[in-house]
Amino acid sequence: MEVRKPMTFVRVALDVPLPRLFDYRADDATAADIGLRVQVPFGTGTKCGVIVDVTASSDQPAEKLKPVAAILRDMPPLPPDWLALCEFCSRYYQHPLGQVMAFALPPLLRKGKLPREKKINPRAAVDTPALPALLPEQQAAVEAITSAQSFTAFLLHGVTGSGKTEVYLRAIDALLAQGKQGLMLVPEIALTPQLEQRVSNRFPNAHVVAAHSGVADAARARGFLDTLAGRADIVLGTRLSVFMPLPRLGLIVVDEEHDASFKQQEGLRYSARDVAVFRAKQLGIPIVLGSATPSLETFHHAQAGRYRLLELPRRAVAAAPPTVRIIDTRKEKLQDGLSAALIAALSERLARREQSLVFLNRRGYAPVLVCPACGWVSRCRRCAANMVLHLADRRLRCHHCGLEAAIPRACPGCGNQDLHPFGRGTQRLEAALAERFPAARILRIDRDSASTPAKWQALLAAIHAGEADMLIGTQMLAKGHDFPRLTLVGVVGADEALFAADFRSPERLFAQLMQVGGRSGRHNLPGEVLIQTEYPAQPLYRAVVEHDYAAFARNQLNDRQAAGFPPFSYQAMLRAEAPEMAQAIDFLHAARAAAEPLAAAVIALYDPVPMRLARLKNLERGQLLVESQNRPALQAFLAAWMALLREFKTPRELRWHLDVDPAEY
Ligand code: ADP
Ligand code: ZN
Ligand code: ZN
Repeated sequence: MEVRKPMTFVRVALDVPLPRLFDYRADDATAADIGLRVQVPFGTGTKCGVIVDVTASSDQPAEKLKPVAAILRDMPPLPPDWLALCEFCSRYYQHPLGQVMAFALPPLLRKGKLPREKKINPRAAVDTPALPALLPEQQAAVEAITSAQSFTAFLLHGVTGSGKTEVYLRAIDALLAQGKQGLMLVPEIALTPQLEQRVSNRFPNAHVVAAHSGVADAARARGFLDTLAGRADIVLGTRLSVFMPLPRLGLIVVDEEHDASFKQQEGLRYSARDVAVFRAKQLGIPIVLGSATPSLETFHHAQAGRYRLLELPRRAVAAAPPTVRIIDTRKEKLQDGLSAALIAALSERLARREQSLVFLNRRGYAPVLVCPACGWVSRCRRCAANMVLHLADRRLRCHHCGLEAAIPRACPGCGNQDLHPFGRGTQRLEAALAERFPAARILRIDRDSASTPAKWQALLAAIHAGEADMLIGTQMLAKGHDFPRLTLVGVVGADEALFAADFRSPERLFAQLMQVGGRSGRHNLPGEVLIQTEYPAQPLYRAVVEHDYAAFARNQLNDRQAAGFPPFSYQAMLRAEAPEMAQAIDFLHAARAAAEPLAAAVIALYDPVPMRLARLKNLERGQLLVESQNRPALQAFLAAWMALLREFKTPRELRWHLDVDPAEY
């Protein structure tokens, strides 16, 4: 009898939308190849995937399996904890493993390539800069973090300027001294360059890798390889850097942990903050979540004792917090949307040659153009939304799909030539201020005026050089910038967010107001914040006046608990889109019917409804909310449900996805 040579198979995760692995023959493969990239035949071509297992048997008949094209041994294998991290994301977010890995790998590596080598000139060791003495609260925080021997989640709560970053840097310093690696996640904002600078100034001898969307492909792949090989000491980046392989990872920091940009809104809909917490738990290391206005999820964990609360109650550089005043606009007739009190405060600043900022979180000239004669309004023909009037370049523009049109000379409905802008955006405010303060140098900062990083940097430079007296800005300007001569912040048009349909809207508004308020009076000049509102008694505004995050959070958590919203429940959203709303809703009804036998008593299935933005780019959109107080039960249900849904025969033009822990409703 002929003795058959034992066969070896590799199980490969491929970037295809199927929740399974693919087996191939690879007779020279050994267990050491797990985590390597591999080229395999797939369909009529080849694909690059990742080997997640090497086995002596396959579920499929061996003669049906094709051999691999090539195992790519030109890069160290992805380590087991990285594979496990991807597996966790695949399970938790119900996303195929191969697609999770494809997302987590830089594009070049995903395609089976390697970046060209780049010569790095060895640098002479540089003296590290002298450090300021820590405040007692900072000292206590650093000690707590550096003495954590196993998984501990810390919530570092302190207003902007309270010295949180200094705490991160000290903790990282201690880490580097032990030969470990640090990972620091920051929101997706134009602020990363400043922080990068601060980190590399602080650690001139450390190898710092930046990972964000602004990093070019080759550099991104090189950064990934440097961390994989253990050459990098610190990774600093936006949400995607949570997937960087770090063999000696000793600490994770998530700065501005409440920031919405940590949640990805397409493809793999992960929350980098939550994945970071999982990763710290997996590795048994500490994680620091820092914020002036923590997410209610995180604050709730801290209240319940699952996270350790570290408080930095005062600003590190002596500066009193700004005085916040509420301007009750019910009692007066506003002039171009501005109250007499705000106008007076702006004139004062102008006279004193100090800077002011008027915060209005709505760009464009006016949110809509209307015909008073027949009621026509400028709607987007592709979305259930209005076209925003942009007078700066004389266009109507949909902020959801980007569709543009010329401003009609006359009403398309009735021919009336007297069309009116309705409501107010940053451009209109700019025009009003320019008229009222002709001597003032006014700068508008929003996504239109700062449409490229270069324009944005130029605007920032102009502000810093003192070339502007008045700034008009959206939330773009709220974050992290330090403008020495800025002493007044006026807030207009914020009320809308109080009553928005999304239950997280007040949380976001509070964070924005605290952030934008923190822009004023950061140095020796006292700061003032004026908030115009028709709802002066709102607890949210009272909490801003008192600088009392805890009061706001308790109030919100009570509301959330009464309504059974997160963090008192866990949610998942099934969304569908199709040319007709009926198709989307029918699919969701069918999905709901399929869910019923699977859903235990602890799972609540809501009714399918149109989304708030019911049409986007000519597609009608519906959603179905699933909720439970029991996370493992919800997870088990979602897995079983997804298996059924993937078998559904749906019309070609219908698309659907599941969003676990949705952040938008
Ligand atoms: P946050 O991250 O909370 O906004 P930072 O760490 O950036 O605060 O600190 C704000 C400013 O105060 C920075 O300029 C920082 O260098 C400075 N700073 C922080 N801690 C101290 C300290 N203990 N002594 C002196 N200056 C400090
Ligand atoms: Zn008309
Ligand atoms: Zn549109």
